[in-house]
Amino acid sequence: MSGVLVVMEQRSGAWNRMSFEALAAGQQLAAKLGAECSAAVVGSDPGALATELSSKKLKKAFAVQHALLGIYTSDGYVAALEQLIKEENPDFVLLPHTYQVRDYAPALATRFQQVLISDVIGIRTEDDRADSPIFVRQLLQGKLNADYRHIPPGPCFVSIQAGTFRADAVEDGTAATETFSPRLSPDQIRNKPGEPFRESSHTVDLTAAPVIVSVGRGIGEEGNLPIVEELAKALGAELAASRPICDNGWLPMERQVGSSGQTVSPKLYVAIGISGAIQHLVGMKGSKAVLAINKDENAPIFEIADYGVAGDLFEIVPELTKAIQTAKS
Ligand SMILES: Cc1cc2nc3c(=O)[nH]c(=O)nc-3n(C[C@H](O)[C@H](O)[C@H](O)COP(=O)(O)OP(=O)(O)OC[C@H]3O[C@@H](n4cnc5c(N)ncnc54)[C@H](O)[C@@H]3O)c2cc1C
Repeated sequence: MSGVLVVMEQRSGAWNRMSFEALAAGQQLAAKLGAECSAAVVGSDPGALATELSSKKLKKAFAVQHALLGIYTSDGYVAALEQLIKEENPDFVLLPHTYQVRDYAPALATRFQQVLISDVIGIRTEDDRADSPIFVRQLLQGKLNADYRHIPPGPCFVSIQAGTFRADAVEDGTAATETFSPRLSPDQIRNKPGEPFRESSHTVDLTAAPVIVSVGRGIGEEGNLPIVEELAKALGAELAASRPICDNGWLPMERQVGSSGQTVSPKLYVAIGISGAIQHLVGMKGSKAVLAINKDENAPIFEIADYGVAGDLFEIVPELTKAIQTAKS
């Protein structure tokens, strides 16, 4: 097979939602290349999931199956996928940029003397070199976009950032399913899996909130949080945060917005002291209106903001709160 192979992700028989975003990326890349796209799902019994894929526009849907692949280990996945890729010989291997992929995909790429082009936020082709796509990654917390081009020979390994492609853009069609049984033995699996990583729990449902006031590292310290809490109260808004605030334990994890937190789409999202890293943006870019307050006028958040205030939040937020309180009284 030349063309594109997308490695989907599942846990306990349930898809990781980002797999279908990577699948949409794979189909679109294959169309640009004039090639075909296939997909693979790994596990001890992934047949039912591969059958689900047979209703997508794919050349083949592979069930990569072995008893030793029931519990995820990087050793098991690398060994199994290495064998599949050697047999199928794709030009491009696309994966969702999940925690699991981050764990095993660099080692998998290394087996082919390749690197993983990770965290890709866009794929484009140029007319004169349609067979050599350009993969876009962000550098320096989103301040720069960098273009990467793979130099053959060897498969090109790419992981796709959450929110870059739409899962609902996956094209339906038909695919032949095929079971691929890698040769694996217990002595190849050196990893001893611990507790799997858990995404933040969703006991606070931010998805239904019409107004969200979200706070980032610009707030400086936990003791300053009342400044934004007051604004949220005045607006009747839910309080949310970027990841560092939740990682520090200043707000509970369930208030985190982003790729490893909640995805929200309020009427108004007020981003205070948030730089606008891609992992945050993917969680809130569906907001109807975004107001950003940041002292760095070049902060990436301003690129998606409908209203921007370049200034010190410690001056602006209390004034804004006062103005809202006055207007309401
Ligand atoms: C696998 C992975 C998953 C991730 N998941 C998420 C996720 O789900 N959600 C998430 O948010 N992040 C996530 N991140 C982290 C993400 O990459 C960023 O590090 C994070 O979003 C940055 O948070 P921030 O904008 O609050 O902080 P910073 O990037 O440090 O930005 C702080 C901003 O505050 C501004 N500022 C400072 N002082 C003031 C002031 N006095 N007044 C006004 N502005 C001020 C600065 O100019 C700056 O722009 C993830 C990262 C990884 C690797």
